Amino acid sequence: MNATEIRELFPILDQKIHDCPLVYLDSAASAQKPIQVIEAVKRYYEWDNANVHRGVHTLGMRATDAYEAARVAVARFIGASSEREIVFTRGATSSLNLVASSFARMVCSEGDEIVLSEMEHHSNLIPWQQAAKASGAVLKYIPLKSDGTFSIEDVEQTVTNRTKVVTVSHVSNVLGIANPVKQMADIAHKKGAVLVVDGAQSAPHLKVNVREMDCDFYAFSGHKMCAPTGIGVLYGRKALLEQMEPIEFGGEMIDRVGLQDASWKEAPWKFEGGTPIIAGAIGLSAAIRFLEQIGLDAIAEHDRQLTRYAEEQMKRMEHLTIYGPTEGRVGLVTFNMGQIHSHDVATVLDTYGVAIRAGHHCCQPLMNHFNVSSTARASFYLYNTREDVDRLLFALQKTKEYFR
Ligand code: PLP
Repeated sequence: MNATEIRELFPILDQKIHDCPLVYLDSAASAQKPIQVIEAVKRYYEWDNANVHRGVHTLGMRATDAYEAARVAVARFIGASSEREIVFTRGATSSLNLVASSFARMVCSEGDEIVLSEMEHHSNLIPWQQAAKASGAVLKYIPLKSDGTFSIEDVEQTVTNRTKVVTVSHVSNVLGIANPVKQMADIAHKKGAVLVVDGAQSAPHLKVNVREMDCDFYAFSGHKMCAPTGIGVLYGRKALLEQMEPIEFGGEMIDRVGLQDASWKEAPWKFEGGTPIIAGAIGLSAAIRFLEQIGLDAIAEHDRQLTRYAEEQMKRMEHLTIYGPTEGRVGLVTFNMGQIHSHDVATVLDTYGVAIRAGHHCCQPLMNHFNVSSTARASFYLYNTREDVDRLLFALQKTKEYFR
């Protein structure tokens, strides 16, 4: 994999910020888009734009074919048994809300348990808080070790016969490590619970196979894997999706409508009320083609090597704390520089053209665990090079000097 060549496919990266070449190290928040994705969306709007599942005219049929072909592409991309297991949503947040609002409220009653970890993104935490409040279920947290990870023994201890849902991020957006989702699926299933995986940070970086993972639901966002914003996916086992009620009602999702009542289409269409995110799905399909052509294994290896290089160099810097375990980071390094606030670090870095994320990363409980209010995070993707890391290190050195 040649990141320098790949970088040229991303028009946005060819610009200067404050007279310095742009070094984009915030892909964990949102990834940049290659020309192939931009062109696919442009082509759709220039040639095929129409509503789906309705028009019998040529454009309507072309739009429907492209939208449904995207569903097939997603199913293959994550190893689902059928495209009927793929629901298009607005993103990982919407996908997780759908499971929490529909599935969890259906299966949980007073005293049942929803098990999750303290490292979860707010998008995989608040929907469960709401589901617990609505159903009378209790939230149980898998305790974290000092480095922010948890042990599989602790998962075993936390999950009981009352557990209905176990949920976890596949890859943490703060620690960058992958959680043992297959083992967690085994533990959940032994107790009759389902495993919901937040794949927002794994789908862009790892070859995902939901059947091998044996999860029951898997949620991810297009925009973190080179697709447009506003499109996401919920994978759900067919039998579970069939049992679930929609949470949005209106056009597109119905079978028959009377004055007092209505019935729904089958899954996944019953979950896609209203005009769907057609251009987004087509853009996602193009992004999948793009990533598959390069190869997910090659991307994963590239991201790992770059992260390792960054981490090794950053460890040599004085007064720089890196959060999380030392091994197994998938594509990001989270850190603080002494007493300098992470927003100040990010602001100074921006003056050198380096874009990183600062703040609580939508993980306030994990920040509390580390006893900090915020951290800085540099995240790497297929278009980043060693030179980008070197520019980050240079800018960090300058930041230190600035605040000395
Ligand atoms: N889960 C994780 C681990 C994330 O990193 C994010 C986004 O940062 C989300 C969920 C939410 O994704 P979105 O904002 O695209 O819905």
